[in-house]
Amino acid sequence: MNPARPASPEIVRTKIVATLGPASRSEEAIRGLVDAGVDVFRLNMAHGSVEEHAESLARIRRVAEELSRPVGVLADLAGPKIRLGELPGGAVDLVEGEHVSFVRGTEAHGPGEFTVTYEPLVDELSVGDSVMLADGTISLVVAERNHDHVRCRVIQGGTVRSRQGVNLPGVRLSVAAMSAADWQHAEWAAAAGVDFVSLSFVRSAVEVKLLKELLRTRGSLARVVAKIEKREAIENLDSIVEAADAVMVARGDLGVETDVASMPMVQKRIIRACQRYQKPVIVATQMLDSMQHARRPTRAEATDVANAILDGADACMLSGETAIGEHPRLVVQMMRRIASETEKQYLADRWRYMEGRFMAERGSAGVPVQEFLPAPEFLVEGLHPITQAVVDGASRIAGELDAKLFVVASKSGLTAIARSKRRGAVPTVGLSDNLATLRQMSLYWGVTPLAGAAAGDTAALLEHVCSWGLAQGRLQRGDRILLVAGSGFGTGGHNMALVHEV
Ligand code: PGA
Ligand code: MN
Repeated sequence: MNPARPASPEIVRTKIVATLGPASRSEEAIRGLVDAGVDVFRLNMAHGSVEEHAESLARIRRVAEELSRPVGVLADLAGPKIRLGELPGGAVDLVEGEHVSFVRGTEAHGPGEFTVTYEPLVDELSVGDSVMLADGTISLVVAERNHDHVRCRVIQGGTVRSRQGVNLPGVRLSVAAMSAADWQHAEWAAAAGVDFVSLSFVRSAVEVKLLKELLRTRGSLARVVAKIEKREAIENLDSIVEAADAVMVARGDLGVETDVASMPMVQKRIIRACQRYQKPVIVATQMLDSMQHARRPTRAEATDVANAILDGADACMLSGETAIGEHPRLVVQMMRRIASETEKQYLADRWRYMEGRFMAERGSAGVPVQEFLPAPEFLVEGLHPITQAVVDGASRIAGELDAKLFVVASKSGLTAIARSKRRGAVPTVGLSDNLATLRQMSLYWGVTPLAGAAAGDTAALLEHVCSWGLAQGRLQRGDRILLVAGSGFGTGGHNMALVHEV
């Protein structure tokens, strides 16, 4: 290390996804959040109108342009979430030991009866099934089934409100993967040029492919994020991860649909699968939950963010914290600081050490990139095998030479994913002349998207990156950088790794 080297701007590799909501959707609030470190905004299609989301999207795009920061937008489809109908008086208290019934139709005939938004529920529940209400705090068990209603005994009581979600852990429902509203939202997302579309309550790979197909036939290249929050999704984990472009560990519903006690290990399992298939993975829900009101997180929350990063999460997500919380900007700053400290204190040395020798052993069992992470086993889908090999080799060279930047020129962003999943300590710059690609790169761990030509003139690429790096304080004369690009000769892939001294 050169002692005279001035401090370069802080690099945080873990990406931050923030949910927009009433507390954060003004243009000024969005600007503040981008400035604090948000990489991707989530529009939760389960709430608000399409018009509102369109307005939020327009604001995000304006702010991003004004700040010259590629910012991603994720439209999150509600999927087959089942909700209660209207309750008499808006709320009902359930007492342990009493009985309530789910009935067909849209009308309840008294305080002991519930309707739901899913008509065939009465046919699909069986005696012994459990039904969870109010985010899992209330539980019922099916005691008796008739042709027009299902009678349940209250195991754990509490207050339920109209239109609250209903979770049915382990029950196999025949409900379609996407409702009419989901289709409409997906069509809007495609037309509006949203960068990511996520699907809730995914059960199988077919459902992920269905959404991809819908988007592609409408000309959208949005990346599809599979939300893992059902037991069936855990059972079909590998095929879902393989089919998806990215994955979310959706702990809010996952912690109700499965045993919350087993969820921490399920989180690690999902993340490891994403590493094997080289898919970006977002860890979501309650990461800094108490900061909806408090100005500081609990110790457990700070530790949760750090542990998700150590598990190998590419991004951490904020939900209520930024959507309806009192301190959206403070929460983002806190998440960023935790990420920074975690990466700095614990991982940087290990990564640097690993980077030098990792990819030579790709495919062999278990040379970890990070402590808990397996080596990638499958090529990035759609990426030329030559590109994959060149990224692997260049990553090793970057580590060995203590390079200061790793530059990938990428049209589709796939090369940036391959580099991201190496988990290298050397910061990565993803160059593209396509703004949509740059916005997608905003989700990829360790990758800083930078506008510029994606291919062609190598000298011009280097010139562009070096002047940016020098101006940013990320590079000094004499530093080495790695460039992965296409030479323009022959193959379809990126066939060139170049070491440049600034
Ligand atoms: P949701 O998804 O916030 O849309 O429910 C995330 C989760 O369930 O954790
Ligand atoms: Mn959910």
